[in-house]
Amino acid sequence: MEDVVTHEKGVEAVLIKSWLEQYYSSDMEEIIDKLSPDARDMITSPAANQWYPLELMKEVYTVIYEVTKEKDPKAIVDYGRFSAERSASGLLRFLMKFIDMNKLIERMKAFWKHYHKGGKITASELVEEAGRKKRIVAYHGYDAGQAACLAPLGYLKAIAERAGAKNVKVLEKTCIHKGDKVCSWEVSWES
Ligand SMILES: [Zn+2]
Repeated sequence: MEDVVTHEKGVEAVLIKSWLEQYYSSDMEEIIDKLSPDARDMITSPAANQWYPLELMKEVYTVIYEVTKEKDPKAIVDYGRFSAERSASGLLRFLMKFIDMNKLIERMKAFWKHYHKGGKITASELVEEAGRKKRIVAYHGYDAGQAACLAPLGYLKAIAERAGAKNVKVLEKTCIHKGDKVCSWEVSWES
């Protein structure tokens, strides 16, 4: 059987809720109205340590994207940044200050298991090209809808910057919603 993510830790829903309250409070009602009862319960009173079906997260990302795309098509990229900065994962935040981006990507593999049931994250070997370091980060078996694929653009950039990387760029390389096997992003930076 294919190894896919079935559940995600409530920490993510907690972060989404506080991000919406901070930046999209005027759209909150419309977003909540469009959600199914289960997704609505999750986002209005999320429990950080509970496992939620990925389907509910998918619904939330998709509805947020639908409601905000006209005025702010990059809202979910911003959420990714917010999530990296406000992450409840104290250890990851601690590590960001002390280890470089390259090692941080290695550590992210272990963190995956804390927040996802199933799937995995992989990273290519470090490549150095024209003064820039580069790694491809891939999410395997993670389908939270196409809108959710915007979050790593902000998330990976933010953690790279926190880890001291300069002039960071994150580009989408592949996407399961475009027929690829995994979703992946190229992270490049100067150290
Ligand atoms: Zn994708």
